[in-house]
Amino acid sequence: WHSWTPVRQRTRPAIVRGAGYHVWDDAGRRYLDATSSALNAVCGYGESRIEAAARTQAAQLHHFELSRFTHRPAAALAERLTGLLGGPLTRTVLVNSGSEAVEAAVRIAIDLWPLRGEPRSRVVTLERGYHGSTALCQSLSGLPHLANRYRDPIPVTRVPLPREGAALRTADGLERAFELIEQAVAEPHEDGPPAAVVLEPLLNVGGGIVLPPGLLARLRRLCDRTGALLILDEVFTGLGRTGAWFASQHEDVRPDLMVLSKGLNGGYAPIGAAVAAGHLAEDFAAEPVVGGLRYGHTTSGHAIACAAALATLDVIEEDGLVARSARHGADLLDALTAGATGPLVTDVRGRGLVVTVEMADADLAARLVQAATARRLLLRQQGRAVMAVPPLTIDETGVREIAESVAGALDDVRT
Ligand code: PMP
Repeated sequence: WHSWTPVRQRTRPAIVRGAGYHVWDDAGRRYLDATSSALNAVCGYGESRIEAAARTQAAQLHHFELSRFTHRPAAALAERLTGLLGGPLTRTVLVNSGSEAVEAAVRIAIDLWPLRGEPRSRVVTLERGYHGSTALCQSLSGLPHLANRYRDPIPVTRVPLPREGAALRTADGLERAFELIEQAVAEPHEDGPPAAVVLEPLLNVGGGIVLPPGLLARLRRLCDRTGALLILDEVFTGLGRTGAWFASQHEDVRPDLMVLSKGLNGGYAPIGAAVAAGHLAEDFAAEPVVGGLRYGHTTSGHAIACAAALATLDVIEEDGLVARSARHGADLLDALTAGATGPLVTDVRGRGLVVTVEMADADLAARLVQAATARRLLLRQQGRAVMAVPPLTIDETGVREIAESVAGALDDVRT
């Protein structure tokens, strides 16, 4: 594990205002926010319908904890999620972040095995996956900067992805990726077969890696064969980001447990959700909203956060943001494929409104982000990957501005 590097004190500009897909800092500079504030602001800033729903809820009942009672926004949100996710996913654990939601899903999966007469505790993940920052969540990842003293509260097998870039997206890449996961599931292990396979349909912190098409469907069948539960972490990809309500729907795959957070309420309040299939949940939950201390927290399913989530889902539906994400994402990918070229760029890839320009190294990626910031465009950096993940409300003008600023910033880096 890595020792701490002391953080150098620096003054950062404060963001003081947001409207649409722009934010302003305290010096009055306006930026196009192609980070959606760490992918929260799916509906942009100052969305009056979400704001109004949060205010109305605050005035009526700001919150009541869910261990002995339920409340209307939580119950309505659970029902709404089941409707969107389809059939089996009927039991919702509401929490306050993506990490808590992943942790709840993994613990549910492990807790259920003894009830089936076979204790299993091992979990298979992707080495370059990211699932949050609690000790358990960091242990699911093999990203070097997340290695820590609290490693492995549960046994984890981390599968290295064979290749990055365009090669991973070929039929050969699919074959190799699947083989490696299959081997990890089947490997003789002192902790036995895995309780669950946990992965993101598109790797975020791992570098905007688009998994080979067809992989999720094959993993679903592998899990059915081996009994391992399929946990999909759609904290980053869910809620329209990849041009479908959920990225797993591109392959018509339903997990046993689905994890959501970030965009779920447009970032208006902390929220996370682990939604479990009913046939599993019978063992641990009698009602659609699962409250209480076992997987929840004092402010889990916060009423204002749930009301904001319901309004966010309405906005996504009413404004057709899922289809817009697909359309504008495809346009942005085309524009960057044409405009972000040259020896410094090693790959341009994307799905929906996750468009990644991969640079030759992390230092160049940092310089590109800096140059873009100077041009008033905020981009997200993950290692060598520079990602444009604007609010789903982005329009033609915004797409053009992002593409022009990235091309300009690449020129700045080259010279
Ligand atoms: N899973 C994924 C795929 C994520 O991208 C993130 C956040 N970057 C998390 C889990 C953790 O969410 P949070 O930061 O809200 O704890």
